[in-house]
Amino acid sequence: MPQSADVALITGASRGIGAAVALALAGDGFDIWLNYRSNDAAAFNVRAAIEALGRKCLPLRFDVTDPVAAEAALSPHLGGHVPLALVNNAGFSRDNLFGIMSGTEWDEVLSVSLGGFFNVTRLVAPLMQRKRRGRIVNVASLSGEAGNAGQVNYSAAKAGLIGATKALAKELGKRNVLVNAVAPGLIETDMTAGLPLERILPLIPLGRMGKPEEVASCVSFLCSPAASYITGHVLSVNGGLYT
Ligand code: NAP
Repeated sequence: MPQSADVALITGASRGIGAAVALALAGDGFDIWLNYRSNDAAAFNVRAAIEALGRKCLPLRFDVTDPVAAEAALSPHLGGHVPLALVNNAGFSRDNLFGIMSGTEWDEVLSVSLGGFFNVTRLVAPLMQRKRRGRIVNVASLSGEAGNAGQVNYSAAKAGLIGATKALAKELGKRNVLVNAVAPGLIETDMTAGLPLERILPLIPLGRMGKPEEVASCVSFLCSPAASYITGHVLSVNGGLYT
């Protein structure tokens, strides 16, 4: 059995970018608290890969939009351990033109990115403050930096997350809790499956989609000692795409 290590909590870590972040942070020596919403099989595969790296993994199935569920899942564990890295990654898009966007499409997207950030971070950040140590990384998006047609809801949610990142960085800096965001462009995951690549790839200077591991390595950096003087920053990971 490995010695117990610092814990990293990653939301939405059963697939895609979150799963790659969980594996990268496990490779860095963190034990992982792995949140996901519903896909047990995918989450258990990630857990097996983390354990194969010699680290512990605690799967935590809850919906980040539900504050009661978040508290019920996390509270029993927070007495024994304080996650010293928190990656707010859970998210999805519900794209539509603004003129025909439903209230549900608007609410769900804001609820997962912004509500999820609030519901989880409010439980963990005060404990990091008490320890005088912690890293919070929020997974935003190029859409939140530049805006994207058909994604007014998603762009608003991710721009809001960037604002929350910068504000929280100013609140927590004195306690040595560093808060940053990564802003991925187009990354190969279930979320982007089926996009018209023939139209999108020519717009990307690097000429290809990014891989989840290429986002995860940036999160790993922001959680590492090498990033000890970086807070309130948004690290773009987009292959040069800024339109
Ligand atoms: P993905 O492959 O669809 O995976 C989404 C993950 O989030 C899954 O683990 C899913 O759990 C979990 N999740 C969804 N809703 C949740 C909820 N309410 N509570 C808890 N977990 C929830 O997505 P992805 O592409 O990796 O995206 C990850 C993050 O990166 C998102 O915030 C997304 O907005 C952002 N992002 C992605 C891209 C891209 O091009 N892919 C670009 C910019 C930003 P289950 O497996 O249980 O459903």
